[in-house]
Amino acid sequence: MKDIRPLFNYDAEGPLYIAGPCSAESREQVLAAAAGVANAGIKVFRAGVWKPRTKPGMFEGIGSAALEWLMEAKRIYGLNIVTEVATPDHLEAALKAGVDGVWIGARTTTNPFATQQVADALRGVDTTVLVKNPVIPDVNLWIGAIERIYGSGVRRIGAVHRGFGTHQATMYRNDPHWSVPIELHRLLPHMTILSDPSHIGGRRDLIAPLSQQALDFGFSGLMVECHPTPDTALSDATQQITPESFAEILKQIVWRRTPANADSLRDFRLHIDSIDSRLIELLAERMEVARGIGELKRHHGMAIVQRERFNELLEAAEGRATAMGLSTTFIHQIFSAIHEESVRQQTENIKKS
Ligand code: PEP
Ligand code: MN
Repeated sequence: MKDIRPLFNYDAEGPLYIAGPCSAESREQVLAAAAGVANAGIKVFRAGVWKPRTKPGMFEGIGSAALEWLMEAKRIYGLNIVTEVATPDHLEAALKAGVDGVWIGARTTTNPFATQQVADALRGVDTTVLVKNPVIPDVNLWIGAIERIYGSGVRRIGAVHRGFGTHQATMYRNDPHWSVPIELHRLLPHMTILSDPSHIGGRRDLIAPLSQQALDFGFSGLMVECHPTPDTALSDATQQITPESFAEILKQIVWRRTPANADSLRDFRLHIDSIDSRLIELLAERMEVARGIGELKRHHGMAIVQRERFNELLEAAEGRATAMGLSTTFIHQIFSAIHEESVRQQTENIKKS
């Protein structure tokens, strides 16, 4: 897939930003969002018209009628328009209205039948197609969806990393599993990969750090949900920000251009970076659990440090580590440090209460 081309009319100099509301809700909301996005110097406007929702009864989008509002935004502000399509009917309506590109949502990418149907309907069409990662962290399923789109003849194909569903309680709405998009980049180095910090974080305050992290990992740009009045949004309210806030974030963001042809050293480093961020997240998660245990012990008047428990934990860790080729001394040091911090966090909590 070496002949995959850049998206829209994007010239590959500097990051590509896409912004706009999760859903098109009304003509006024679309035009206000588009005005803000254009004002921030962003050239591509996103808005969902058909929304795949977890449960029936939630706002499922306005449907084709909203496409007219998007086209009005295009006419007034000269923006490129992109929307989600999940079926050949969606695609037909979106193309007929005159969108500049479409994206395949995470749920659709997860389903090869659905992706193939959209791919078949794309035959002979020259447009931009963004493929969001599947809900599960399987790089092959993601590449498979990209191959299906490529097989239709479309060449302006990009990928969007939006994180992966997880049953574990993490700080993110969708676990980033950075190693998956990094592997995608290793396998398809010519393809544009954007990050969607809105759906990864699910929280406004995570957009800035996740955006910087994605650009540091070598992503080519961002797709961010921007709404003129985020608190009143009909979908994904907690993760939407105003276009003005996004413009502020962009001012702070540092873009360090790395060569498009990633060498293997860089790939290894990116992989290490992704593992390190996972380690930090896991440590933060562990400390949070420790604080919970601290509360419980306090409630029952129990001692914070239970020597026996620590010895058991250490022995188990050392056993597992040896089986994986790690030295027991190293594991002993790491776990002692973790345990010490964990005790500190539990006692801090007691001091506070
Ligand atoms: C979206 O971008 O609004 C969306 C529904 O995304 P995803 O498919 O990543 O959940
Ligand atoms: Mn959304």
